[in-house]
Amino acid sequence: MISFYPGPSRVHGSIPTYVKQAYREGIMEMNHRSAEFITMTKQTVWLLKKKLRIPHHYTVLFASSATECWEIIAQSLITQKSTHIYNGAFGKKWRDYTAALVASADAYAFDANEVLPPDNLTFHESDVICLTHNETSNGTALSNKCIKQIAVNNPHALVAVDATSSMAGVYLDFKAADCWFASVQKCFGLPAGLALMVLSPKAVERTASIAESNHYNSLHSMVAMMQQSQTTHTPNVLGIYLLMRVLEKMDDIKAVEEKLVKRYIDWETYFDKSTQLKFLINNQRARSLTVLTISATEKLVKRVKRESKQAGYLLGEGYGEYKNTTFRIANFPALKQKEIKALQDHLLQYL
Ligand SMILES: *Cc1c(COP(=O)(O)O)cnc(C)c1O
Repeated sequence: MISFYPGPSRVHGSIPTYVKQAYREGIMEMNHRSAEFITMTKQTVWLLKKKLRIPHHYTVLFASSATECWEIIAQSLITQKSTHIYNGAFGKKWRDYTAALVASADAYAFDANEVLPPDNLTFHESDVICLTHNETSNGTALSNKCIKQIAVNNPHALVAVDATSSMAGVYLDFKAADCWFASVQKCFGLPAGLALMVLSPKAVERTASIAESNHYNSLHSMVAMMQQSQTTHTPNVLGIYLLMRVLEKMDDIKAVEEKLVKRYIDWETYFDKSTQLKFLINNQRARSLTVLTISATEKLVKRVKRESKQAGYLLGEGYGEYKNTTFRIANFPALKQKEIKALQDHLLQYL
């Protein structure tokens, strides 16, 4: 079965080899306070910064899921109010989780077919503005330019960006925002159980001035531990090792993005020819490069998903309100060109 699910997703073909090597090398029993762990963490952070073009003065942290990152931000960075700008289910969920933990979490919802006009997005009372770079539920994305403009309009606030289904697939302008995060079971092509947080110096300063320390995963403590290349608790050591191994082989993010753009354009041309299967998002400029959401009648969606599975291709279910009328196709780096071609050949019958 080839998984085109946009998370958990197809893992890199090299993972079984790396897992065996990890076992042989004692990674699975590695002590997280050991010199070996510190070396591995340093190397992984170095590779992340290099391959993803993260500024060297930014701080990289390990967490276990994107959901955990939502909670870390709520407990450790939001003191007054957050504003959540979103157009889909993940952005909304982030707001709802935050609302349960902080005094006030405002929602600013926009239409999925709308390209966000950042000019008039200024929120004076918010200390954190939360954006979803790539909305996995409907297949939309924000541009780097838009994120940057929102940060420029709100110099008093931190801008936090959920890039779970785009980090390691497309180039992100890390300088433009203060807190980025992603779990690794999507674009990174790794097994679930690890997430990354990337903090700007401004965000690190904010964690120091707030100094919230009521939780095992308080950001202030996480940052302090990472200054020693360590974590507050026993982390997913195998996950960090696998991340390191995959990053060693990864191309520069701009080259990865170029590959995904080519594949995306190919998919766009493919579905443009169809009368039955259409992009859920009509506005091309609002679409995500990494998650394709295809809509059709309920009957056809059901048939396409069922028959594709029988043929060996796992398509992503529709998400939330689009559950029965869409399916999703990941355009993630771990997928092979010949697998994509095979799925395209299979889907021809439904066009
Ligand atoms: C998958 C996803 C999440 C949740 O990730 P977990 O690692 O399961 O917590 C959050 N945000 C977005 C945009 C996602 O795609």
